[in-house]
Amino acid sequence: MRFKDLPAIIKIGKYLFRSQMPYFPVVASFDVTNRCTLRCKHCYWWFQEHPTELHEDIFYDKVREIKTIHPTLVAAIWMGGEPLLRKDLVGKCKSLFSFNEVITNGTLPLPFWKDVRFACSVDGTKEYHEIQRGKDTYERIKKNINRSDLKVHIICVLTRLNQVCLEDFVEEWRQTHIKNIGFGFYTPIEGKEDNDQIWLNFQERDRVIDRILKLKKKYPHFINSSPTALAIFKSDKCQQATERCRRDYATFNSICFDSMMRRKFPCVIGKEAICEKCGCGGAVLGEAIKRSDRSFIFEHINTQIYLLKERFSS
Ligand code: SF4
Ligand code: SF4
Repeated sequence: MRFKDLPAIIKIGKYLFRSQMPYFPVVASFDVTNRCTLRCKHCYWWFQEHPTELHEDIFYDKVREIKTIHPTLVAAIWMGGEPLLRKDLVGKCKSLFSFNEVITNGTLPLPFWKDVRFACSVDGTKEYHEIQRGKDTYERIKKNINRSDLKVHIICVLTRLNQVCLEDFVEEWRQTHIKNIGFGFYTPIEGKEDNDQIWLNFQERDRVIDRILKLKKKYPHFINSSPTALAIFKSDKCQQATERCRRDYATFNSICFDSMMRRKFPCVIGKEAICEKCGCGGAVLGEAIKRSDRSFIFEHINTQIYLLKERFSS
């Protein structure tokens, strides 16, 4: 944590403790590159225009400028494409923020950054992961991300193509050094032809959520998805959450930039996102904080304490 960010962190903490979302930017996401090592079936990013990427020095200066304009930005998410294609640039920029997360597809070796949370995309057991993310990727990714010396988490995007393997997937990765697995659902993109083959409709999603909740009971710390947030994803509540996300949370709390440092609206997924069918974890975050009467915050603190204990005992 950066000492300079302390006043902002205290301010944010006060909001969260009162079960309120701050109305100022807290987290920024940066598409570090306009390249990727994969071409996944459910990718929104290949649907966006990213003609080039800025020179490293210019990119760094722009990040610094953004941080100066918004001193309450304490967290950064480094993404792409594949952000580790510009590992040196991320390594330089991360020092500007107190909290850093790198969202990677795991095809490249992870740098030894103890101060970073790596969120690696794995979409199921080998067969189902490779249907979504491409052939001959799984074993390489597993080898790269199964590290005991780093904070490595998995994020899994559930779709009609891979939901079937949910339980086997969790059992397999429990045997590794991965800290935990969080689940999100595919968000359809305006104009993408195969949306219906991929997107879990609301009733299907409700059933998958029940299965995740069952797994959560069995492995409370390994399943990172919060019951409060999952409940908001259910068909009877999700519309209000996604509406508010587009209108309020995505506008105020997080700001997103592409590889040219242009703002992306309303969120990383961009203007083609079909919000009412959104399955992104960020969409329910604000609602979870507001509705949960602090239980969401305590769920999160509890998990962090568990991870800390685990780290010191290993
Ligand atoms: S790794 Fe990410 S950015 Fe690259 S193709 Fe897959 S979903 Fe898209
Ligand atoms: S796509 Fe989802 S996360 Fe993005 S603004 Fe819409 S509801 Fe929010």
